[in-house]
Amino acid sequence: MPRAKYHLITLGCQMNKSDSERVATVLDRMGMEETGSEDDADLILINSCSVRQTAEDRIFGKMRDFGRMKEKNPKLIIGVTGCLPGRDRDGVIRAKMPQADLYFPIKDLPQLPRWMAELNPEFANEGDIEDDYLAVKPRYANEKQTYVSIQTGCNKFCTYCVVPFSRGLEKNRPAADVLNEIRERARNGAVEITLLGQTVNAYLASDRATGFSKENPYKDDFAALLWEVNQIPGIERIHYTAPHPRHMTDEVIDALTLPKHVNYLHLPVQAGNDEVLRRMNRRYTCAEFLEVIRKVRAKSPTIGIGTDIIVGFCGESEGQFEDTVAMYKAADFDIAYTAMYSPRSGTAAYKAFKDDVPRLEKKRRWMKLQGLMEDTVLRKNQSYVGREVEVLVDSWDHGVASGQSREMKLTRFNSAEDLRGATVRVRVTKAFEWMLSSELVSVVRR
Ligand code: SF4
Repeated sequence: MPRAKYHLITLGCQMNKSDSERVATVLDRMGMEETGSEDDADLILINSCSVRQTAEDRIFGKMRDFGRMKEKNPKLIIGVTGCLPGRDRDGVIRAKMPQADLYFPIKDLPQLPRWMAELNPEFANEGDIEDDYLAVKPRYANEKQTYVSIQTGCNKFCTYCVVPFSRGLEKNRPAADVLNEIRERARNGAVEITLLGQTVNAYLASDRATGFSKENPYKDDFAALLWEVNQIPGIERIHYTAPHPRHMTDEVIDALTLPKHVNYLHLPVQAGNDEVLRRMNRRYTCAEFLEVIRKVRAKSPTIGIGTDIIVGFCGESEGQFEDTVAMYKAADFDIAYTAMYSPRSGTAAYKAFKDDVPRLEKKRRWMKLQGLMEDTVLRKNQSYVGREVEVLVDSWDHGVASGQSREMKLTRFNSAEDLRGATVRVRVTKAFEWMLSSELVSVVRR
């Protein structure tokens, strides 16, 4: 009998991508096989993102399409997991998608086999059921580069953000679990580890006394975890996302200098005006943020620093936006992911503030920051010309190899040989806004 098939659609951030690797494990264990096509799937499952209204609207559109498919194939099971069900406490969003047979927050993933069997007894299965979805071992999409979730949920309650509602309060995995997972990945060939958490540097190890070695020099749990990952043979690169500026302790800043840490830090600032930061409930001032940047650059002078910014937050005046422009210049960010504020029901900002910056004005502010970023990134990239950088090759096509440098710069070079998975040194020959062109110097490791 042919195996039943599932089609998994992952929207949103790296955390969702990592969660989808856990969903794949559960469905594989049920004897199903993944298909890249919606048309021959017995189950279509969307791992949803709820960060902006446009992301949600996209899901509603897809559900209408899937509803039409279900009319032709009544056995088709349609599911939605991820952030959308997580934040839908009153069922208002659920009511808008009658096509969904399954609708569950990701923390309920261990229940999926039971629900599938209820919908179709052919899926009855007696596989393992973990209590905690983070304990489900992911089916890793990439052998060399692996995401490892160390935490889920968030306690910060930034006023614009749905995460504390969609994922619940912060929950950390024991250090021993995290380190065992990474050791196992390293034995299977992983060289790059990205630690994931909503406020990843707020990490607390419940097993601090037994999870870390005696030689570990750090008292801060996140810095201590980074030190332990640094000791794991085979791992060459470590990075993490997303840290919170408040938790950039001196030890976490020091840990950026550990030999395997990439030469890059992504540190969301969100706004460059104290009053806007206060209304966002970000819990730091511009001066405090810039002090963190100063300390980071004092320890790691060549580090690349990226950020996230929201423009057009409730009540953001022209002058307050210009403060964000000034902050961008003062911090001299290498890259920024800028978003126009999108009100999300259930959040404090949605309840307390008016979304009063017109859309066209949000767009104008977005474009101004985008222009500033493009100028800055080109200037910074030009400083790499003539320098050697180390690249982990992740793609090769028609004689062109590419990958990211330790500064997280996309770098391309010609290579007759397929070097995917190799670590190489290249010399940068030309800089563009989004890419460094280079020539191969040597292969460090295949
Ligand atoms: S720190 Fe703020 S923006 Fe980040 S996940 Fe938590 S509430 Fe959301």
